[in-house]
Amino acid sequence: MNTEKPATQKQIEGEQRRVAVVGAGIIGTMSAWQLAQRGHSVTVYDQWNTPNDRGASAGESRIFRTLYKEGPEYVEFIQRSGEKWQELESAQSVHVLEWCGGLTIGRPDHPDVAAVLECADELDLDHRVLDADAMRNEFPAYGVDDDEIGVFDPNAGVFRPELAVLAARNESIRLGTTYRPYSEVLNIRPLADRVMVHTADSADAFDSIVIATGPWAAELSGLSAGTIFNKQLVGCWFPAADVAVHEPSRMPISIRRHPEGAFSGFPCLDGVGVKILTHHLEWPRIDNVDSLSRFVDPAFVRSAETAVARLMPGLDPTAVRVSTWTEGFTPDGAPIVGPSPIDDRIVLAVGMSGQGFKFSPMVGSVVADIITSGASNDALDIMNPSRFTTGASS
Ligand SMILES: Cc1cc2nc3c(=O)[nH]c(=O)nc-3n(C[C@H](O)[C@H](O)[C@H](O)COP(=O)(O)OP(=O)(O)OC[C@H]3O[C@@H](n4cnc5c(N)ncnc54)[C@H](O)[C@@H]3O)c2cc1C
Repeated sequence: MNTEKPATQKQIEGEQRRVAVVGAGIIGTMSAWQLAQRGHSVTVYDQWNTPNDRGASAGESRIFRTLYKEGPEYVEFIQRSGEKWQELESAQSVHVLEWCGGLTIGRPDHPDVAAVLECADELDLDHRVLDADAMRNEFPAYGVDDDEIGVFDPNAGVFRPELAVLAARNESIRLGTTYRPYSEVLNIRPLADRVMVHTADSADAFDSIVIATGPWAAELSGLSAGTIFNKQLVGCWFPAADVAVHEPSRMPISIRRHPEGAFSGFPCLDGVGVKILTHHLEWPRIDNVDSLSRFVDPAFVRSAETAVARLMPGLDPTAVRVSTWTEGFTPDGAPIVGPSPIDDRIVLAVGMSGQGFKFSPMVGSVVADIITSGASNDALDIMNPSRFTTGASS
């Protein structure tokens, strides 16, 4: 990003602004929807089409959960996102989030199990604690040891992410947003009275810019490589002997914690089997997102197969489908949402750190508030870009 001259953003409440959103994954499309709802003139650029399978918003399923091991400070943000997800579904007459419930499974003293229980207690959230026998009886998809428990979150579910991006895109288009597919933004130039967005064949002027470039965030955001970096995540699908036991009506999403395997479990959405995203192997860092190989280290696949053989009794422990994606992470694992430290006409919504899908509507709402009135009452301090100001560069 080239900065010709530092500038400050002075909003007039109710004024329509020309806004460019760079990146049309779930964060960019949700931002476009929220901006268009507030009456702004929105143009969304993506280097691919929308949705696409290159970014972090693809892969058949995503988890929504409210009992949040990452911290109670996120919970209201997540609850309000849930309301916005329902608003979007209703506006578009689509179904993208199935409320199948969620389980955190492990020994009671596992830090993630303990964190979920603490979160439920602190905020008095709906939940049930099941012992091993109750788990086996109610949720036979999950194999458990006698000393394990399941913490059931009724306000959890599974997304169909591609349909969700499509719904946010279509609703933003209905409200007047323009999409520019296959238009890579090469440069952003803040000038005194406007911010220019350059592609290979255009240069367009805007009042404000949203950077929602997911795993590509280091390139345009002005954030240093230490502030934002990418990791590779691997998903494996396993066929179910009895699909009915593994459908969302019988199998909640899970955060599984066991000495022989840690993973997120996603119920069967493809009529064949269950997706597992392993957590017990370190996710490798990826320097160049565009060169990500679709062939993953066999160690990942074998570790998922071993965990499934031990912990998912109704699945054939052979990964019949393997996919891989990248995601932008920050050093503290919290997203970066707010005005750029370089120029407050540029709003950052990046570094979602593996969390962003569920609360993307509220990220979009905070972004839209900031562009509309300079600030948002809903912004979370833990996401404030200024915590990394030393990483900002022009
Ligand atoms: C495998 C995996 C599992 C996950 N599981 C969950 C989960 O269960 N629950 C949950 O809440 N979250 C989950 N997450 C996190 C969540 O999916 C992401 O945080 C979210 O999808 C990020 O969306 P995004 O819009 O920021 O990025 P992306 O979807 O990657 O979108 C960025 C877009 O920017 C475009 N772009 C980049 N650079 C440019 C440019 N210069 N010009 C034009 N366009 C550009 C790209 O083409 C891309 O379309 C998971 C993430 C992964 C990878």
